Amino acid sequence: MGVAENLAKIQEKMEEACHKSGRKMDEITIIAVTKYVTIERAKETLASGITNLGENRLKGFEEKYHALKERAKWHFIGTLQSRKTRDVVDKVKAIHSLDRLSLAKEIEKRASEPIDCFVQVNVSEEDTKHGLSVDEVIPFIEKLEGFTKIHVVGLMTMAPHIDDETEIRTIFRRLRLLRDEVERKELPYAPCHYLSMGMSNDYEIAIEEGATHIRIGTKLVGNDG
Ligand SMILES: *Cc1c(COP(=O)(O)O)cnc(C)c1O
Repeated sequence: MGVAENLAKIQEKMEEACHKSGRKMDEITIIAVTKYVTIERAKETLASGITNLGENRLKGFEEKYHALKERAKWHFIGTLQSRKTRDVVDKVKAIHSLDRLSLAKEIEKRASEPIDCFVQVNVSEEDTKHGLSVDEVIPFIEKLEGFTKIHVVGLMTMAPHIDDETEIRTIFRRLRLLRDEVERKELPYAPCHYLSMGMSNDYEIAIEEGATHIRIGTKLVGNDG
């Protein structure tokens, strides 16, 4: 299936989810996660009208970045090793995986311009997932005061791979409430208006719960969307 056809289907479902929850399509940014696909497929993705691309590993990012550069707005969505920060910071629009102070320090040292960051939260507390626990988020963000290169634009999470829709919804809702809490603090360096949540299997629920950035791989750029 072509990316454009997959996109049309996804947009239809997004519209339904927006309708159900009284939201508007233009509040939501689709990030096409190209980590599984070729440069050709990433080009097809851009041709379909999508401008935001996401990669979760340095190698994949560099390969695609080299081929496409500023034709796309890049989002780094995977775990970022501190020593690789310099290879990413000035090339991406946002980092979705800020999860520790050592990484923040490295970004501060390496970035030449302030960069949009999402703080990654392990709401489900699965051992296999990266991110801060819910309780750690506000103390962490408060420590970022004075970091001139870090602009906390939002929170990010990944829901577990389960079929239990209620459980998934609870996780997304928890992230939204936490976002609201940070937002209310009106920290100049952490406006925190955004929620990066929702992937191929759960983006509709994520939208109903307030996602502003959905990260879709398989169903958008995969062949079996
Ligand atoms: C791979 C990945 C996605 C997209 O996953 P799909 O299930 O293929 O849509 C989204 N976010 C992160 C952090 C990922 O690593």
